[in-house]
Order: sequence, then structure tokens, then C-alpha cells
Amino acid sequence: MPEPKLRSRSFKRKKVRTPGGRIADHYWRSTSRRYKCALCGGVLHGCPTNKYEEKEAKTKKRPERPYGGYLCHRCLRMALKNKLMQEAV
Ligand SMILES: [Zn+2]
Repeated sequence: MPEPKLRSRSFKRKKVRTPGGRIADHYWRSTSRRYKCALCGGVLHGCPTNKYEEKEAKTKKRPERPYGGYLCHRCLRMALKNKLMQEAV
């Protein structure tokens, strides 16, 4: 029986054959996640996908532009256009 914390289904699990021929259960927590655009929900590129990339410098964690890491490039383009159109009126 695995230890109590490993009985939780929040861990992913897999049976692996070890070099000694034994079959062992391997458990790990899923760390991959994708940052999403706040408007369309599309996946943002240039943003960290795992906890190791989270530790890098801020400039490496999102695009260096207004709303970088928050809006995708398509939604940003639309938002800026809308803003300009409203100011022109
Ligand atoms: Zn978007």
C-alpha cells in the first residue's frame, strides 16, 4: 500500500520496470500548465510552462510589450485599435 499522500488522485502514476526487473509505481505531481489570454483563452507563447521556468528573470517570463503575459497578440491588437477609435470620436 502506498503512503497516504500518494493515494490521492492529484498525483499522476505510472508503473515502470526498474533496471533490476522489478515493477514499481512512480508518482509525480503534474507541473505543466499554460498561461492563457484573458480575452480569448488562447495559449500565451513565451510564458513559463513549468516550475523551473517560473524561477527565471521576469523579462524571460513574458513578452516585453504592453499587456505581455496577459493578452495574446491578436487581442492586444484589437484592444489597442478599439481604444484609438474611441479616442478619435
Ligand atoms: Zn486573446
